[in-house]
Amino acid sequence: MSDPKIPVFFHPAQLDFKPLYEWAFGERIDHPETTARAESILAALRGAPEIFDVHPPRALPLTALRAQHDYQLLSLYNTARRLAEGQTFYPTVFPRERPIYADPHNIHHAGAFCFDSGTPLNAQTFDAAVWSAACAKDAAEAIRSRATRLAYALSRPPGHHATRDLFGGYCYFNNAALAARHLRGAGRVAIIDIDFHHGNGTQSLFYRDSKVLTISVHGDPRAFFPFFAGYPTETGAKAGLGYNMNLVLETGADAQAYLRLLDEVALPAVRSFAPAWLIVAAGFDTYHKDPVGRFDLQTTDYADIGERLGRLGLPTVVVQEGGYYTPDLGLNARTFLCGARDGQRAPRPALAHD
Ligand SMILES: [Zn+2]
Repeated sequence: MSDPKIPVFFHPAQLDFKPLYEWAFGERIDHPETTARAESILAALRGAPEIFDVHPPRALPLTALRAQHDYQLLSLYNTARRLAEGQTFYPTVFPRERPIYADPHNIHHAGAFCFDSGTPLNAQTFDAAVWSAACAKDAAEAIRSRATRLAYALSRPPGHHATRDLFGGYCYFNNAALAARHLRGAGRVAIIDIDFHHGNGTQSLFYRDSKVLTISVHGDPRAFFPFFAGYPTETGAKAGLGYNMNLVLETGADAQAYLRLLDEVALPAVRSFAPAWLIVAAGFDTYHKDPVGRFDLQTTDYADIGERLGRLGLPTVVVQEGGYYTPDLGLNARTFLCGARDGQRAPRPALAHD
């Protein structure tokens, strides 16, 4: 009998949202978070129909998003729905005083609900972001129901920078966190974020939570987005103290350095936490050709990373985050997912008394 296929969740409406440009160091550049990202991944996965089964998620009720995000954030996205076709709003004014008066029905107040100027709003943003979150929810449900031990949410736009009440970093709803919330009632959850950038939104959503371990492996926040979070001293608070781990790698880190950090620090931490579920916030902007990230990983390295995570032996949801070198993004995602599947199949290492 052949192995069950890996379910892949994706909705075509996620492609209706097309960010145009952003400002980077004073230059107007093409926006990296393009529809070509999802299309690259879809093509790679549809090219292996014996392994992957691509289908749309079910519609996600907004109540599920309101349980995680401030309702004003949803109101603001709804306001953006009324922008004219072709019109895009980039927040540029960010109020600092507290309390502030901010009206989510006024698009000019968007900066009160946002932390950077590179994350645009237009009429399609809300629907695309809701479908992106729906992918993560259904992938979580697929493992929770024991229908599969590995599921993939092709979430785009990504999510790991979105906090309870702020969007930013190309992220509108925190998809990985939503998956974790869905699983948390059925056992402890470990989230490992392998995107090049620190998962600040995921960290903040579970910072006081002892039932969700958040680990992020990323580039130095002194030099890379999100700049104001991602430091090793951020270890959680209150009941969550000790359940947040930030692992920083040097610029240009290669597979040897990356895998050593996984083997010696991240994976032992997951094992000692003994979660029931694993969520991988999978960004591939760690790739050596990526225009945004600055690590030196090759395509084959994603098989090794995936296999190590698979060998944890946990029901796993992989949620897509960043990755901006679109010619190879699909191959990198596919290589990672196949690695994770191989790792799950591999026999557990024998214990000393076996
Ligand atoms: Zn990233």
